[in-house]
Amino acid sequence: MTRNLTCIICPRGCSLVAEINGNEVKVTGHTCPKGEQYAIDECTNPVRTVTSIVRVTNREDTMVSCKTENPIPKDKIFDVMAIIRSTTVEAPVSIGDVLCDDVFGTRVIATKEIK
Ligand code: SF4
Repeated sequence: MTRNLTCIICPRGCSLVAEINGNEVKVTGHTCPKGEQYAIDECTNPVRTVTSIVRVTNREDTMVSCKTENPIPKDKIFDVMAIIRSTTVEAPVSIGDVLCDDVFGTRVIATKEIK
């Protein structure tokens, strides 16, 4: 099986071709080793960092931006978004504060300060 991918590791956006034979993935089109590893990961265990916003209950019309501290399995993105949507927080919030704990092996942390 062949997969055509665009590397998202850097703005260059190299076009990658991954030839998948069982557990073996052969990559061409990469300019650097990061692209090769990206294609292998994408074909074997795709993960993503999720970014979103959480409602701040004690500040009118205020949301705090957040992200998963580590990438999560791509097929869990909608589950993580549901958890984030059901989460609220009270100000003050500092960058790095944990908003959701133990979300598919990582945490959701604030990426903005709310005084
Ligand atoms: S293969 Fe390397 S140079 Fe090309 S987009 Fe990926 S990280 Fe950037």
